[in-house]
Amino acid sequence: MKALLLALTVALTASAAPIKVLLIDGQNNHQWQVTTPELKKIIEADGLCLVEVATAPAKGQDLSGFKPDFAAYAAVVSNYNGELWAPATQEAFEKYVSGGGGFVSVHAANNSFPEWKAYNDMIGVGGWGGRSEKSGPYLRLRSGKWIADTTPGRGGSHGKQHQFLMTTHASQHPIMAGLPEKWMHTQDELYDRLRGPAENVTVLASAKSDPGTGGSGEDEPLLMAISYGKGRVFHTALGHALDAIKCAGFATTLQRGTEWAATGKVTQKVPTDFPTAESVSVRP
Ligand code: ZN
Repeated sequence: MKALLLALTVALTASAAPIKVLLIDGQNNHQWQVTTPELKKIIEADGLCLVEVATAPAKGQDLSGFKPDFAAYAAVVSNYNGELWAPATQEAFEKYVSGGGGFVSVHAANNSFPEWKAYNDMIGVGGWGGRSEKSGPYLRLRSGKWIADTTPGRGGSHGKQHQFLMTTHASQHPIMAGLPEKWMHTQDELYDRLRGPAENVTVLASAKSDPGTGGSGEDEPLLMAISYGKGRVFHTALGHALDAIKCAGFATTLQRGTEWAATGKVTQKVPTDFPTAESVSVRP
């Protein structure tokens, strides 16, 4: 009996080996030193994933030695908004994702690399860094469908930070399955007017960007799933600062999005503290 139990325990432990995730930071116009530990904590919750951090050299330093071993991880999460990686690192990353690797872009990571075509294909849409109609269309909700809108204009903006209502669009997608159709996100920047190649994008959730707070007046895509070759990308435009990251809705979608990017599946239950349409839910 003891031997059987031991064998069972070993089998269970083996099947529950954590998913290896690499989190990249080191340059960002946001406080990555503060947000990285919290992102790591969220992704590692319940022992599902094991996160290692690769910190790129600071701005102005030589980036040529920054060559993470992407292939050693099931997913790469970016908390990086900074200088372009060395050509060899770009090439390795493209090969990794197109070959079936997972990628997760968090908030200002979608500001990165306006000049790197493959990266923009991966994130679907991005903002700032001179992005304009030359970068690609906006994703706009028209008659219940997301369409590519080529209207000229800036790529990337946001109004004043506030709480806002998120709307789920792809309720059958593994990341969104079981989540409420509407939920309140805590105070955050609501990115608007993102633009890019916008190909192979499934908009998972959006929020109305209110002109009253300086927004676009449009439903802005804020959670997206993108396919890039054989790879899966989860893009969350949420998560400006620590208080926004502590939203149970941000945390849940990040953890589910990371698992999906890594494996194509989501095995996590929806937590009981997930926000509702009426109230935000912020974790301590
Ligand atoms: Zn921000």
